[in-house]
Amino acid sequence: QHAIGVDIGGTKVAIAIVDEAGNILTESVIPTDLSIPAIKMVGKINNEIEQVIKRTGIPMEQLIGIGIGAPGPLDSKNGIITSPPNLSGWIDVPITQIVEQHFSIPVSLENDANAAAMAERLIGAAQENDNFAYITVSTGIGAGIVAEGKLLRGLKGNAGDIGHTVVDPSFGKCTCGQYGCLEWIASGTAIARQGSAIIGKDISTKDVFNLYFNGNKEIIRLIEKVFRVLGVACVSVINTFDTEKIVIGGGVSKVGDPLFQSIQAYVSEFALNETGRQTEIVPAKLEQSSGVIGAAALCFAR
Ligand code: ADP
Ligand code: ZN
Repeated sequence: QHAIGVDIGGTKVAIAIVDEAGNILTESVIPTDLSIPAIKMVGKINNEIEQVIKRTGIPMEQLIGIGIGAPGPLDSKNGIITSPPNLSGWIDVPITQIVEQHFSIPVSLENDANAAAMAERLIGAAQENDNFAYITVSTGIGAGIVAEGKLLRGLKGNAGDIGHTVVDPSFGKCTCGQYGCLEWIASGTAIARQGSAIIGKDISTKDVFNLYFNGNKEIIRLIEKVFRVLGVACVSVINTFDTEKIVIGGGVSKVGDPLFQSIQAYVSEFALNETGRQTEIVPAKLEQSSGVIGAAALCFAR
C-alpha cells in the first residue's frame, strides 16, 4: 500500500509517494507561489500530484489516500487551511475538498508539526512510543502530541501549538500579545534577534551559536536562558501529558549535545515524579523528509 504525502510550506511544496514502511518512492518539489490565488496554487499542487503518480506508474487503486501537512492555524476536521501567517493570502481554503474532488481518494489535513510527529512515530525516533511529544524549534516553535497512541488534535486540529505558551514573562511582549511566550524567547528567529541586540548588529542564529561555541560570555548567558526555557516547556508538556519521550527537531536542534543535555538536565531535575523525570529528550531522526512522510503517515494511521 502507498499514500501520497504533501508538505505545504511558505516557500515550497513537497509531494511524495510513500510506502507503509515510510520509504519515499518519488518526490517532487514545487515553489509555493503566494502571488497567485490560493485556489490556483492548490490546482498546481493537484497537477504535480498527478505527475508524480504518473511517473511512479502506481495504479490509483493502490493509493490509499493523500495526506496534507500545512502550517497552522487550520481546521483539520473540516479540511480547511484557515489563515496561516506563513501562507499569506490563504484564507479559509477548503483544500481537502478540492483535492478529494480531483482524485476521488480520501484526503486528510493536519498541521505540519502534527504530521512530523506522525513521521517520527512511523519510522523515526518514537517508533516504540504511545505517549510522546515532537517539538520543532525552527523559525517558530510548534509541537505535535501523541497521547495513548493517538495524535491529539483538539477542537480543530491545532492542539500542540506550544510556541505561544508563557514560559518567562520577563522576556517581554510576543507578537501574539502575551508576555514571555516560548517562541518569543527560544525560536531560531528569537535567538537571532536577542543575539543581534547583544552584539549590536544583525547576526544570524548560526552566528549566535558560533559565538556561543567560541566562549562569548554574554551569548553563553543568552543561550543558557534559551535552553532553560526549552526545559521549562518540556516539563510543562511532561507534567500535562505524562509523556515518555520528547523528540526535538527543527533547525535549532542541529546545535546538538549542549541543547539536548541542558534540556535533559532540567527535565531530570524538575519534572514531577519519578516517571516524569525519566522522560528521554532525543533528537528527531527525520529532518528534511519528515513533512512528506508524516503527511503520508496520516493516511496509514487512519
Ligand atoms: P523552517 O522553520 O523553515 O522549518 P528550519 O527547521 O531549518 O526551517 O529552521 C530554521 C531556523 O533554524 C532558522 O532560525 C535557522 O537560523 C536555524 N538553524 C538552522 N540550522 C541551524 C544550525 N545548524 N544551528 C543553529 N540554528 C540553525
Ligand atoms: Zn506568543
